Amino acid sequence: MALPPPTAIHLIDAFGAGVYALTIINQVDLWWHRRHRRTHLWLALSATGALLVDISGFALRTDTDPHAGWLGAVNMLGVALALVSLHELTLAIVHRRSGKHVRIVESATLVAPGLIFVLPAAPVAAAMMLAAVLFLLTAMWQAIRSARSGDPEAHVIAQGLSLLFLILIYDVLSDQGLLPRVYGTPVFGFSFLYVCAARAMRMRYDREHRELQDLRTGLEQRVQLRTEQLEAANRQLALLSRTDALTGLANRRSFIESTRARLHDAPGALVMIDVDHFKQINDRHGHATGDEALRAVASALGAIPSAHELVARWGGEEFIALLEPDGAAARVERLRLTLHGIDLQAEDGSKIALRASFGLTFVANGEDLDAAIARADHALYEAKRGGRDRLVVAPG
Ligand code: GH3
Ligand code: MG
Ligand code: MG
Repeated sequence: MALPPPTAIHLIDAFGAGVYALTIINQVDLWWHRRHRRTHLWLALSATGALLVDISGFALRTDTDPHAGWLGAVNMLGVALALVSLHELTLAIVHRRSGKHVRIVESATLVAPGLIFVLPAAPVAAAMMLAAVLFLLTAMWQAIRSARSGDPEAHVIAQGLSLLFLILIYDVLSDQGLLPRVYGTPVFGFSFLYVCAARAMRMRYDREHRELQDLRTGLEQRVQLRTEQLEAANRQLALLSRTDALTGLANRRSFIESTRARLHDAPGALVMIDVDHFKQINDRHGHATGDEALRAVASALGAIPSAHELVARWGGEEFIALLEPDGAAARVERLRLTLHGIDLQAEDGSKIALRASFGLTFVANGEDLDAAIARADHALYEAKRGGRDRLVVAPG
């Protein structure tokens, strides 16, 4: 038996069914992977409602079956589901939630189609249609309100809802014979609206993604900055742990470490320096002037070392240096005389004479550092014993 050729309304129904089915598949898939985004679920449900209207409308038009009551109920259920879901979808897009009473009316609208089997169909259908239209109007009002306050996604959905609303009015008026009949207009209204809704969601999630990216970048920059600050603080701490706070010279620990390493490869001259009668400076002029004197000695000592030489504060008013062996004694002697020339004044204006004793010894490479230090210390003791302000060289 040959099938009759499809009419325009059949083709429009088929087009609508295709759009709705694709929307359902797409949105259910998206919702399945992002369950927290309920907007996908609402759009899928609304498209399911539209599909029910589409299929039942097709059947109602072509069939004169006694099951028309069922078809009518399914058609009504489709309308209710499409518009209630649209209402919820719009609320979600404009960041609102339905109150308890609205939820009750929504549920009543969805169960109303079933009532046509127990109550007179016409008033039930009229009440349900009224509620469904009210949901559409509320959704449209909410979307327009949010769009006016600058929400771009609400703007897109408001366009879709407004067009659907105008199309439905046209449909009702043309049904009443007040306007020329154009079949299938609601299909285009719903299709356009679903495209708008999908676009609004896409815009929303793109924007959220961008905001998250910005947040992440900001966070990464802050972590980077903090890391750099921590590293700088660590470097500073490491430096401080190797430096004498008063004079800025290396401290004893740092000197021992570095000297051990240097003497491992090359010989050197080790000199211990002790400021003469330093206690008297403290006693006569105060501790602060004593500190000043220590800084002056340290500054004179600090000017001595060349690339492979080291100077450190050994402790109290004692200093230590590792020099190149060649010409070391002469250089130390020059240093001793340099201290004579330091112009250090007490608070009362009197000049403080800075003098020091020096004990020098030569160290072969690989020799034990402690033994060399003991030798230099002994030479220093000899210098003190010999009358101070002098250099004593201990044989290596
Ligand atoms: P000598 O010629 O025999 O070396 O006598 P001296 O007075 O220099 O030596 P002594 O060991 O009797 O005194 C050293 C003093 O150095 C005692 C201590 O209070 C003082 N001193 C140690 N460290 C510091 C410091 O950081 N600042 C000041 N102002 N005084 C210090
Ligand atoms: Mg001393
Ligand atoms: Mg001393």
